[in-house]
Amino acid sequence: MIRKIFSPVALSVSAMVLLMSGCSDDTTASSSVSQASKPAEVAPVATPAPVAEAPKTVEADEFAYKVEPKKVADNVWCFFGALEMPTRENGGEMANNCFIKGDDSYVVWDTGPSYVYAKQAYAAMAKEAGELPVKYVIISHEHDDHWFGNSYYKDVHGAEIIGPEAINLDFEIGSTDHRMFDILSEDALGDTKVIHVDKFYKEITDLNLAGIDLQYVPVGNAHSKEDFFLWMPSNKLILAGDIVMNGRVTSNRDGSVEGSIAALETINAKDWEVLIPGHGFIIDKTATDEYVEYFTMMRDRIEAAMDEGIDETGIVEAVPMVEFKDKPLYEALHGLNVSRAYQEYDMGL
Ligand SMILES: [Zn+2]
Repeated sequence: MIRKIFSPVALSVSAMVLLMSGCSDDTTASSSVSQASKPAEVAPVATPAPVAEAPKTVEADEFAYKVEPKKVADNVWCFFGALEMPTRENGGEMANNCFIKGDDSYVVWDTGPSYVYAKQAYAAMAKEAGELPVKYVIISHEHDDHWFGNSYYKDVHGAEIIGPEAINLDFEIGSTDHRMFDILSEDALGDTKVIHVDKFYKEITDLNLAGIDLQYVPVGNAHSKEDFFLWMPSNKLILAGDIVMNGRVTSNRDGSVEGSIAALETINAKDWEVLIPGHGFIIDKTATDEYVEYFTMMRDRIEAAMDEGIDETGIVEAVPMVEFKDKPLYEALHGLNVSRAYQEYDMGL
């Protein structure tokens, strides 16, 4: 059952404004405003007081990520990545991840593309909401833009890592033949290492971590081999991982159209008001609309094309879904998504 949304445009614009407004209230901007508003007569005679140097989030020899936490709910902040493929220039900073502040530590949802990213995100978070340790990390799925920061939280914080078993099955400890190692520069990777998750679950699991009640929900093969989302009932919040994206075309390279539609129904059956997609900036009640539309349209049009006898050689041309052609990554990913979906309907992946 898909939620019907009241006034989606107004809501999604307000969510965008909330997320895009970070620059105007960062510490640099507000301190220059307070300087400017000091009485003019004080300035010429007073020796400027030494300004305490803010703790560094970026070391001189590190790639400078644009980590800027945005508060999305009580005790929850997220970092939003670019609507791009991972590149050397963006340091792989294109997925969203979040911090939940508990009694004595943070719970981190997804850890980004590298050790250096995770280190800088934590430093920015510590500045924003306090220097608590990270005792728990929870991972949405096995794609490396979402968890290659795990080794930072294990090495520095001793965090327990909860995630899909698929990571342990598909990634050898210490291996480096993975996308991020090929793309990112040394100063972005830093001490990035493949490590395994400490705990994995196969059933819906209620957790109480650092005093926070959370539900970790497996949805099987939706966007990847094994996807999960996290539900925080007290905040009516869902951290969706890549089961939901918006503002760009998804990558369905190892996903399932039917699995995605079913996972979206599971999410929309929960009581939520705010949803953080794995990629994208729309977090209000309209957050899943675009993805539901993309996958239901793809299913319907592929089935119609197959009924007309179109086979794998003609399917990409037959299902262009021009409604999405202006979205970022359409050119790079849509054709591949259709090919993959055709295999699903033709052979039942
Ligand atoms: Zn993914």
